Amino acid sequence: MLSLQNQIVLITGASSGIGASCAKIFAQAGAKLILAARRFERLEELADRLGKEFSASIHLLQLDVCDRTQVESSLQSLPEPWSNIDILINNAGLSRGLNKLQEGSFQDWEEMIDTNIKGLLYVTRYVVPGMIDRGKGHVVNIGSIAAYQTYPGGNVYCGSKAAVRAISEGLKQDLLGTPVRVTCVDPGLVETEFSEVRFHGDTERAKKVYQGLTPLTPDDVADVVFFCATRPSHVNISQVLLVPTDQA
Ligand code: NDP
Repeated sequence: MLSLQNQIVLITGASSGIGASCAKIFAQAGAKLILAARRFERLEELADRLGKEFSASIHLLQLDVCDRTQVESSLQSLPEPWSNIDILINNAGLSRGLNKLQEGSFQDWEEMIDTNIKGLLYVTRYVVPGMIDRGKGHVVNIGSIAAYQTYPGGNVYCGSKAAVRAISEGLKQDLLGTPVRVTCVDPGLVETEFSEVRFHGDTERAKKVYQGLTPLTPDDVADVVFFCATRPSHVNISQVLLVPTDQA
């Protein structure tokens, strides 16, 4: 198992759910964390907790991954040693609405495409060259079962996650011959704020999503990310699909 002691790990979407769980498990293993998201106060609370619990060394970035200029300036102005990112976890993502395509909201579409596809591309574009230069690195993209299974109203979200899967595979090909690894982790249903965001804050509708089955927890997904990141450097787990036992 690879040691994560003092490894620098950038996690996007660290302010809740899967990203926050990844922060916890990597902090516990002695990694240094760059936590990025738009809700800065959430990041501060998390950093405070992880600092107390694990004496974690943490750098915070208030970052909207959709804003390419901001991504570039934030990542290119990282002070030493934070600029030497060893592991990138592209986790920031969301779904908006569950509408038929012919009735869809342009704003919802743009938000999903800008966050799930373009945001992931921007961050990757500014991080991976440094990994190649330093001769080590690992990119972990959080995709979704939605890349494999389309469901009613899931059209654009499913398309965005199918893109994450293809981009992960494409990046892996582009990095052949370098030591940089690429993994796409595709979870099924996970109980997080995701459904609340999807339904624009309608908590009652969000809760119904989890009725009748036991969803994954964000820690279940973080465990898998951690497992992939700690394999020996000649092992690349390129794809993982993990679903609740109850989910078809
Ligand atoms: P959460 O809503 O709990 O977390 C989403 C995270 O993404 C938040 O930290 C949010 O932070 C961040 N985020 C959203 N938009 C942006 C942005 N423009 N810039 C920076 N950060 C952003 O949901 P999950 O933890 O469930 O979602 C994490 C990932 O897992 C997503 O990619 C999602 O698609 C994927 N996934 C989730 C599943 C589920 O059932 N929950 C199933 C399969 C995949 P902030 O708002 O502070 O910016």
